Amino acid sequence: MSEGFTTRILHSDRRGSVEHGALHKPMHTASAFGYEDAQTLVDVFQGRNPGYSYGRQGNPTTAALETKLTEMEDGIGTVSFSTGMAAIAAVLTTLLREGDHVVSSGFLFGNTNSLFATMNGLGVDVDFVDATDAANVERALRPNTRLVFVETIANPRTQVAALAEIGALCKARGVLYVVDNTMTSPYLFRPKAVQADLSINSLTKYICGHGNALGGAVTDTGLFDWTAYPNISPSYRGIKPAMQGLQQIKKKGLRDMGATLGSEAAHRIAAGAETLSLRMDRACATADALAAQLAAHPKVKRVYHPSLPDHPQHERARALFKRGGALLSFELQDGLDPVRFQNQLRVVISATHLGDNRTLAIPVAQTIYWEMGPERRREMDIADSLIRVSVGIEEPEDLLADFARACDAV
Ligand SMILES: *Cc1c(COP(=O)(O)O)cnc(C)c1O
Repeated sequence: MSEGFTTRILHSDRRGSVEHGALHKPMHTASAFGYEDAQTLVDVFQGRNPGYSYGRQGNPTTAALETKLTEMEDGIGTVSFSTGMAAIAAVLTTLLREGDHVVSSGFLFGNTNSLFATMNGLGVDVDFVDATDAANVERALRPNTRLVFVETIANPRTQVAALAEIGALCKARGVLYVVDNTMTSPYLFRPKAVQADLSINSLTKYICGHGNALGGAVTDTGLFDWTAYPNISPSYRGIKPAMQGLQQIKKKGLRDMGATLGSEAAHRIAAGAETLSLRMDRACATADALAAQLAAHPKVKRVYHPSLPDHPQHERARALFKRGGALLSFELQDGLDPVRFQNQLRVVISATHLGDNRTLAIPVAQTIYWEMGPERRREMDIADSLIRVSVGIEEPEDLLADFARACDAV
């Protein structure tokens, strides 16, 4: 019988190479690794020996975290990065070339959207589609489409992509399927279950959870046939076919670009990951209760959370995810000011970021969607009164009372 999610995280270090009996992987801060026999160094460089060479390509602490992420995602390997954006940038810049085409969900983390604009400037064509319907993705595919990119639950409006249908489509067409699993985390959802080839996590969010470290990771699920992918450099064709994609991401994206995860951050993220399931269960249950409370309040116009029966992808979320996620958003009735509303909150903090243990709220149109202007906001259906809430792990009654008070006072 296979062990549970949390048991495996807790005992992962102990089952690896234990140092001095330490139950946590120690924090390795060495930049370089030396060997008594120069041949060993040569073997490390040539990939015949699994040792470490230089800290930019990782160290035992980051490797221990990568092992846990691979387990969590049921993958074949993971490469960690200094941030989630560095992980996404490594995937796109190492696997795409001028003249390639990408289909991406239009409901996208803002910085990923901006990164796609950069890729466009480098000669990669990008089509943004409504990925809640796989037919839109299918229509956008071209002979030179190399990659389809989606998020699991979109931020801030919580749309759920047609994850399984897009997976089947990508498999049938041999297109690489990349899923940003940040909003669900591998505890709520494994992209491998919908035939995703690469799963990306911003470790900064739920996996770390404590808001005290940044990190990102790419996990290969082992489902993609890299021998058929045209953009793998001849230098990496010699290794096991299943590892060719990740090898290129590691060498070109981590070693050459250098956005390496520090060992202190890796250690904090690994400690946070131990309680991922407990934190997620609590925060998601509170988010369900808060969504229901807000939906019933006369000063609230609309609430967006997959747990609500009127959410357009409510059934899909129930079928795919262990829970509906810990992020919700809501619109106040016309004329009510989201800034004033937030100023009534005493427990909830006005802050950007999500996946923190503390509950955070942000007026969306005035902050993270400000730069794109009113017209684009209208197109994306972002109302001026929209407030995004990243639900934390405070006692649920404290949060429900805080929002009830602000609703009454605004
Ligand atoms: C935050 C976030 C990222 C970027 O992660 P960082 O660690 O902040 O760089 C990427 N995708 C999603 C869905 C996110 O929420």
